[in-house]
Amino acid sequence: MSERKFIFDLDGTLYRYKGGPTFAISAFYADIRRNILAFLKDELGVPADRVQETYDRLKRDYRGHVSLGVEKEFNVDRGRYFAATWNVPPATYIEPNDDARMVLSALRGRAAVLTEAPRVWAEAALRFLNVYELVRDALFTGEPDVRKPSIGAFREVVDALGGPPGDVYSVGDQEESDIILARAAGLRTIRVGEEKTSADFRVSNVREILLLPFDASHDVP
Ligand SMILES: [Mg+2]
Repeated sequence: MSERKFIFDLDGTLYRYKGGPTFAISAFYADIRRNILAFLKDELGVPADRVQETYDRLKRDYRGHVSLGVEKEFNVDRGRYFAATWNVPPATYIEPNDDARMVLSALRGRAAVLTEAPRVWAEAALRFLNVYELVRDALFTGEPDVRKPSIGAFREVVDALGGPPGDVYSVGDQEESDIILARAAGLRTIRVGEEKTSADFRVSNVREILLLPFDASHDVP
């Protein structure tokens, strides 16, 4: 039997945000959005009274990927945009924990991280959790055109881990992007959280994946 491998989501999975269980309602999200609005105004020259509507429109037209809209419509490199808007200090937002380090140490060489967050944030967050060195060679972030959430992004990471998809588990807190898309790419799935899920397994905390009875469950022909 070949070795199990794991693709971890980042936010909500390897850490939780202070002050809110999900990305959308956290202080983090509010601060990033404020940075983006400032960037639109100060760096891209959007008039102050049109900043909010421009942001809303970019978010809608590029299906949440504002960086792509900024690049296409304002001719500003997405790297510059990310550096200016996502360069915020992890200690302000992340609940410190040893779970990520425990799990990624145990799975060293068999774990990747796939996030739609840009590298400037992903690296800072992983360093804050003392796990960056464990996953630096298998860190997939939100800059490329093929990025999370997409089936293609999962396929790329499976290839990087040496596949095959049936030996790889997607671990994440979001049903659509971490479970359903991963399954569509042929992966097995583990949902982190308390909610109902269609995943193969559910755990309340990422640390619990080290205790899962993998061989006893869904390995039916
Ligand atoms: Mg998440």
